Amino acid sequence: MATVALEELDKEAVKKKYAEERAKRLRTEGNDQYQRLEGAFGDMGADPHTPFQERDPVHDHVTFAFIGAGLSGLVVGARLKEAGIDDFRLIEKAGGVGGTWYWNRYPGVRCDTAAMIYLPLLEETGYMPSEKYVRGPEILAHCNRIADQYGLKDKALFQTIVSGVAWQEDRKVWRITTNRGDDFTAKYVAMATGLLHIAKLPGVPGISSFNGKSFHTSRWDYEYTGGDKEGAPMDKLADKRVAVIGTGATGVQCIPHLAKSAKELFVFQRTPSSVDTRENHPIDPGWFKDLATPGWQKRWMDNFVDNMGRGVPTEDLIDDGWTEIARRVREKVFSLPPDKMNPEGMREAFENADLEKMNEIRTRVDHVVSDDTTAQGLKAWYSQLCKRPCFSDEYLPAYNRPNTTLVNTDGLGVSEVTETGLVVNGQRYEVDCIIYASGFEYGASLEFKSGYDVTGRDGQILSEYWADGMRTLHGLHIHGFPNAFMVQMNQGANMISNIPHNIVDHAKTLAQVVAHAEENGFATIEPTEDAVNAWVTTILSTQAGMLASTECTPGFWNNEGQGWDMKFRQSQGHPGGAEGFFQHMEEWRNSGAYEGLEFTRQGC
Ligand code: NAP
Repeated sequence: MATVALEELDKEAVKKKYAEERAKRLRTEGNDQYQRLEGAFGDMGADPHTPFQERDPVHDHVTFAFIGAGLSGLVVGARLKEAGIDDFRLIEKAGGVGGTWYWNRYPGVRCDTAAMIYLPLLEETGYMPSEKYVRGPEILAHCNRIADQYGLKDKALFQTIVSGVAWQEDRKVWRITTNRGDDFTAKYVAMATGLLHIAKLPGVPGISSFNGKSFHTSRWDYEYTGGDKEGAPMDKLADKRVAVIGTGATGVQCIPHLAKSAKELFVFQRTPSSVDTRENHPIDPGWFKDLATPGWQKRWMDNFVDNMGRGVPTEDLIDDGWTEIARRVREKVFSLPPDKMNPEGMREAFENADLEKMNEIRTRVDHVVSDDTTAQGLKAWYSQLCKRPCFSDEYLPAYNRPNTTLVNTDGLGVSEVTETGLVVNGQRYEVDCIIYASGFEYGASLEFKSGYDVTGRDGQILSEYWADGMRTLHGLHIHGFPNAFMVQMNQGANMISNIPHNIVDHAKTLAQVVAHAEENGFATIEPTEDAVNAWVTTILSTQAGMLASTECTPGFWNNEGQGWDMKFRQSQGHPGGAEGFFQHMEEWRNSGAYEGLEFTRQGC
């Protein structure tokens, strides 16, 4: 594919275009422009995938309770079982395990991170992924494989929403209550209630007045569309005019399938995604057998981190779109003349790598999409890391189908939904069905996203303790909340390109610390206030992190263009990046000193 060489690119003109496109999309109401799912869209707690199961409430005691049965709960459960903690309970609002992969069953759902490093516990389960990037159903099946192998469903409470988590100082246990009348205690509690699971709708007037069918992608209605999550054709759409709102990572995946099935498809786009090639392929069993020697998955996960980091990796085992971004920046930096090896020179090297890549991505649109107006509308005018980069070999060709129309709102978005369709800039589009690929709440508070607050020692409320920002040791332990653990990536590695690596590392720490407490007869584990203060200072010692700049086009990564306040910025990752954090944790665990943690016995 012929692209313009960097030297021939009018960089200033490109940057001017970036600023103009960004200005079109800035909205003063920022994140408040969205609305929640309710009414006809269904209560987000309602589960379309598993019929409601009646059961008696539980009133017992378990050693370890985990709130959330996504990948975090499963990996922690597996590691605890390996460490001899057998009495483990998952509590989950869905009807089964899998978290995001339980809910998101839209056509085309797939993970953009290579399965060899995304699917945890491949060595332990002996499972070989079928493809380099696997589909959602395969990921969900792997979640069930882990749960079954480690017996994690035995005491699980599904379709259950936690209503309270409170520390009982006299007994040194957590009391957990739920919407199903459960009231039980646990010596330890861990929480991973989800990063992107509360669906949101565009703040467009008239959404509830639409008389046709509408649903959010995370609640796909195969009854209406026909087909199934395995990819069967959506035959019931053959006589339907369908609208999809949103062209983020979800839209990019489901649009090609809708284009194949619908009589007519209208894609309402506010900001185009950057869509690079995918080049997926099946995994060869012979190749897999040769590489799968003991410790292989850790080596692969570490290799990904090395390739995304600041050093010079010896090889790139993963070789995907993420490592390519990092490789291009490295090449530009290392080719700098000695007098430009300074922060300014490096910033320019980064910018050049990005301008070159984005130019290639835009040129690809011209090569694939036959209609020129459509092709121009699909070009992303911003830096690749301003928004979540997308990868697909099917998305752009979908626009060459005669039944598929890009409705380019030029940054404005849909202005209104009526009883019979949508309005953009005064033009009406009559449709039978509207599918909202409009994403999920990101910046909302933990207690809002979890649906409960946590009461620690002396009645301390977690949301009040964190009112000015998150305070933890390693993103995992909280002072004043003994035996409680947060399994998530903030104040940790903050690695968004391979979220399971964050989980695997936290699970290792957690299992080791809990095993140490159990072996030595300790009643509580808690970080000292000094250790937490020191960790927060470390976190705030850098501006680095994944938070996209306000110079970027608006999106959930940069708080819809408004930028993040100090409170939110306190959630960023370790100053050494993922490699710095993982290395720190490895050394911390290996020392066996558990610096910063206090272990006490009953009665202390
Ligand atoms: P998203 O990235 O937030 O995309 C929402 C889309 O809705 C955007 O295109 C947004 O446009 C559009 N939108 C919002 N309001 C609109 C309006 N009034 N009119 C027209 N369009 C409007 O959500 P998502 O695609 O569900 O992805 C969320 C995250 O989930 C991803 O970033 C990723 O982390 C994860 N994910 C991963 C995969 C994968 O691995 N392949 C797949 C799916 C999701 P603007 O861009 O202008 O705001």
